[in-house]
Amino acid sequence: MQILDGKLVAQTVKEDLKQKTDILKREGKKPPHLAAILVGHNGASETYVASKVRTCEELGYQSTLIRFETEVTEDELLQKIRELNQDDGVDGILVQLPLPAQISEEKVINTISAQKDVDGFHPANIGKMIQGQPAYIPATPYGILLLLEYYKIETKGKHAVVIGRSNIVGRPISILLSQNTPTGNCTVTICHSHTRNLKDICLQADIIVAALGKPEFLTADMVKDGAVVIDVGITRVPDAGKKKGYALKGDVHFETVAPKCNYITPVPGGVGAMTIAALMKNTYLAAIQRN
Ligand code: NAD
Repeated sequence: MQILDGKLVAQTVKEDLKQKTDILKREGKKPPHLAAILVGHNGASETYVASKVRTCEELGYQSTLIRFETEVTEDELLQKIRELNQDDGVDGILVQLPLPAQISEEKVINTISAQKDVDGFHPANIGKMIQGQPAYIPATPYGILLLLEYYKIETKGKHAVVIGRSNIVGRPISILLSQNTPTGNCTVTICHSHTRNLKDICLQADIIVAALGKPEFLTADMVKDGAVVIDVGITRVPDAGKKKGYALKGDVHFETVAPKCNYITPVPGGVGAMTIAALMKNTYLAAIQRN
């Protein structure tokens, strides 16, 4: 069994981006600039955005963090996004999800300029991605592909089972794994909350992507020997023994599943680390394409 070390791979991706950014600066060009919008004070969102801003600093990118209180109106938020769309100095825009109930995520996603949509959620980017055209690929699925590529994991002809069909993880990764690409050519089964016989389906999988948000859902009896298991889930589970009062749990029962696998991602240190690296890759790409 080999651990797919997201931290290590993310580090190599980031070192490459830092070098490229240093070159841009030496040539007198502007470094990539990511603008992040954070609404409210959700603990997990605060952590994710802080980590994205910190990574920008590490790589020599510019970053701008724009904060709104939970009560912000939809109009105010959309107005700020339109301003950032027009701002020539900004290459990438992300709005940290989830958003408060009064704000339509759909409107927010559709308002971000597709050229600056480094999260890859805009319908124009999703549409291009489905057709195999150059597009910003959503960061988490993109990070998974980078991990598969780094470890040279054979995907061609394999049966991949994706658990979860969200627009940001399950659906895009199921499409990407099915495409005619070096990290694709899988036969994909996409499962969701209405799937029957999930255990039987998982037992047929060569590759399982667990992205449902239910801690330790995937257990050893659902996984065949030699499988590749990608754990996307991150849930904060109360744990009095931890300094922060919670532990991060994936969707996979790691201790029992890992011994059966050829490859498995840990939580933390797996897909989460890759997501930020992939976002940084998209932001670099946005800067290059715009300038
Ligand atoms: P979501 O809540 O939008 O979607 C969950 C999906 O799981 C749904 O499609 C639902 O049908 C399916 N599902 C729920 N219960 C199921 C069951 N019992 N059997 C089969 N399918 C079931 O979730 P999301 O936004 O895709 O996130 C999923 C998990 O991944 C969460 O824990 C989230 O925190 C995590 N996440 C991690 C990263 C990262 O960078 N590692 C990024 C995004 C999301």
